[in-house]
Amino acid sequence: MAEVTVSQLAKTVGATVDRLLAQMKEAGLDHESGDQTVSDVDKQKLLAHLKNSHGASAAQPKKITLKRRTIGTAKTTGTAGGKKTVAIEVRKKRTYVKREEAENEEELEVAAPLETDASTEASEFVEEAPLESLAEQADDEETEIAVEEAVVEEIAAEDGVTAVEADTPKKRVDPFDVEELRRRAATKRKEQEDAEKARHKAMLQSKAEQAAREKAEEAAKVSKAKLGDAGKKQFRTAGPAADDDPVKKPGKKKGRKGNKSNKSGKKGFDDFLVDDRQKGSSLSGQKVLQAISKQEFTIPTEKITYEVRLPQEIAVSDLAQQMAIKANMVIRELMKMGVMASINQSIDQETAILLVEELGHRYVTVSEEEIEEDLLNQLKQTFAEEGEVEALPRPPVVTVMGHVDHGKTSLLDYIRESRVASGEAGGITQHIGAYHVETDMGVVSFLDTPGHAAFTAMRARGAECTDIVILVVAADDGVMPQTIEAIQHAKAAGVPIVVAVNKIDKEAADPERVKNELVAQEVIPEDWGGDTQFIHVSAHTGEGIDKLLEALSLQAEVLELTAPVDVPAKGIVVESRLDKGRGNIASVLVQEGTLKNGDVILAGLHFGRVRNMTDERGVLADEAGPSIPVEILGLDGTPNAGDEVIVVGDERKARELAELRREKDRDAKMARQQRANLDNIFSSFEGQDKKTLNVICKADVRGSVEAIVSALQEIGNDEVEVNLVSSGVGAISDADVNLATATSSVLFGFNVRAEATARKKAEVESIEIRYYSVIYNLLDDVKDALSGMLAPEKREEILGTAEVRDVFKSPKFGLVAGCMVVEGQVSRNKPIRVLRDNVVIHEGELDSLRRFKDDVSEVRSGTECGIGVKDYTDVKEGDMIEVFDIKEIKRSL
Ligand code: GDP
Ligand code: MG
Repeated sequence: MAEVTVSQLAKTVGATVDRLLAQMKEAGLDHESGDQTVSDVDKQKLLAHLKNSHGASAAQPKKITLKRRTIGTAKTTGTAGGKKTVAIEVRKKRTYVKREEAENEEELEVAAPLETDASTEASEFVEEAPLESLAEQADDEETEIAVEEAVVEEIAAEDGVTAVEADTPKKRVDPFDVEELRRRAATKRKEQEDAEKARHKAMLQSKAEQAAREKAEEAAKVSKAKLGDAGKKQFRTAGPAADDDPVKKPGKKKGRKGNKSNKSGKKGFDDFLVDDRQKGSSLSGQKVLQAISKQEFTIPTEKITYEVRLPQEIAVSDLAQQMAIKANMVIRELMKMGVMASINQSIDQETAILLVEELGHRYVTVSEEEIEEDLLNQLKQTFAEEGEVEALPRPPVVTVMGHVDHGKTSLLDYIRESRVASGEAGGITQHIGAYHVETDMGVVSFLDTPGHAAFTAMRARGAECTDIVILVVAADDGVMPQTIEAIQHAKAAGVPIVVAVNKIDKEAADPERVKNELVAQEVIPEDWGGDTQFIHVSAHTGEGIDKLLEALSLQAEVLELTAPVDVPAKGIVVESRLDKGRGNIASVLVQEGTLKNGDVILAGLHFGRVRNMTDERGVLADEAGPSIPVEILGLDGTPNAGDEVIVVGDERKARELAELRREKDRDAKMARQQRANLDNIFSSFEGQDKKTLNVICKADVRGSVEAIVSALQEIGNDEVEVNLVSSGVGAISDADVNLATATSSVLFGFNVRAEATARKKAEVESIEIRYYSVIYNLLDDVKDALSGMLAPEKREEILGTAEVRDVFKSPKFGLVAGCMVVEGQVSRNKPIRVLRDNVVIHEGELDSLRRFKDDVSEVRSGTECGIGVKDYTDVKEGDMIEVFDIKEIKRSL
């Protein structure tokens, strides 16, 4: 125990230094000034002295409670059938009534502060021993605690009451025993009222008392804190309102006693004060202090019972928060249950239930969906609406749809180039899945993703990100199946259509026919009394493009598109990919509010802080408002096209939610794989009835995956079908090959290649990997495979790959890549592709192939060479140059 000075001690016990010094002198101690230290031995001496000198005044028998608490563990079988270790607490209590001359209350009061700095640990496991023996062996630490507890109990009981009831030992109140709680709370309240009255009376006492009381009150604060502390120690269980918990306060039952005595008029509170003053007791203020501290201390508060929401797993910190207690408390409780967990760790539901019940709260188990929703709401609330933010007009977001080859890409390219390139060097250099252009009538944003596939994929996710659909119909071709499909999609989504009758420059153009055919599809032009604008355009000559943009602005005006601007952003993922150098890249179309650099965002399964925001020109942007697309870095993965993006205030919660979603996603994937396996078994069982082609598809960008997936799903009939086992962005990995092995799938790489290890594994497992760069070729192959028409066909074969080790400029040959042929052989006259991170970035041919100073026609594996790529200057160190050939080979599947 730490040593204190006399004045500190005096302050602690609420006496003046002089008075304390006088008492110490009486006790045979030689302290003379306030700044001398008082050792533990000194304290004991003082305690002993006080005890002797006042011993006679407390002739009433005292009750002493012995308690022993032991924690054991037992193994049981949990509900899930697993073994579980349960902590069992055994509580033994016995009450001794000591009839002999007992310790004087006043001494105890001194003892209390003396002892309060005793260790606060382990007190629950300490047995309370009779007080007198404790006083003798008070140098023992455990005993000190016991003394303290005893003292605290006595002080709390202190009410000038001398009668001792055959009180039962303190009982731990069943937290669910509402009646008992109420009864006790009522008693407390009554007691407090009485005490309040008494105090009020006391306040009216003479001025002489005033001084004493002031002192006492000051001490009361100290004492109160200590009592609170000690009280906690005595009670193992504490709820959220632990400190105010009326049922569990040390003074509780004694308080009732005091109450009774007050009522019986035996010896009231005020009598006490008077008595003390008359007695001139050396520590009369102490009485007041007790009265005050006690009554302040026992302010009755209804115990608040919380309803704790428990998912399958819950973090300790969350649990604590829900019960409105400190996390340390939860950790302590868990320890008692034999569970070690830190603040950030999660505990399982069963343990959490035990804990919540132990602390006297109710619980409800909740599903992950509810938790997710909760979290999302919380996150959204982190930016609580500071009043309604005015919604301002925003640009329209336009998607171009139409039959294949009717000119969608050409139209988008024309608008992009003519509108943006002018005046700005380079124009739009990046395909980020969307771009925006300025027109005379305002800004228009275009979704630049492959037609219906992207549109439907996004819609399938509930993402409504298109305001207007441009329906491209070639004037020389008219309405075609995909035109009708596009109309259906647009109508289903309730999105207005602007018809672009394209290729008007062509001689065969017949816009009237287009008009008639569209009317048949209930797309009625304005001049026929409908509400659809028809614009004649040419993506080649640019004719009518201005009118088209004008029509879009007009349509937008009719739609009265608005969005709040000055709020945290909400948007949608248009495209995403992984760039080995730059990390995860996502194109986001802002739909509401303003997205800023540094914002914490949640995007589908991923989250992160927005870094390096650029527009479609690659120009750094600090912020992006409604309807503006941007490309961002900073996410911890590649979200899906169509995923919602929200700016959130709490990074930790965002991470939590992202993880929750990922877990769910993993589960769903597992289930799907399981199914795939089953399907395999079935298809092999059923033999010839229905053929299933299992497919795993990897592609360079989300848009491609989406397009391939939706196209694949449409293939098939009663006899054959495609089962897409898995799809994703990026190189074909080991995991993909493993999955293909497990599910007997074919692996498709669309503009991506397999990693070296994956390729080897695929060879070993004889898994077929096919590479494509044209979706239709892929689809054709699949169709052919399904139809069993496995005729010989032209197929690509990779002849060799060279790794770029260095890039230098030669005055004669231009840019030359110093390469090492790592596989197969590189031939001068075969087509090549340049790959970066296994993604195709260029397709073309070689300009030069040299070994040292000589032109060569072939370089074999393990040899260095210089390669010049024709019409391409973006080769970088680390790129791979792949040489391939188109071969006629027998097909097998
Ligand atoms: P998409 O499949 O709808 O994206 O169509 P594309 O934009 O790829 O165009 C298909 C073909 O039509 C290409 O060969 C284009 O050059 C051509 N094309 C597109 N628009 C026009 C146009 O306005 N006039 C002419 N004459 N040809 C066009
Ligand atoms: Mg196209």
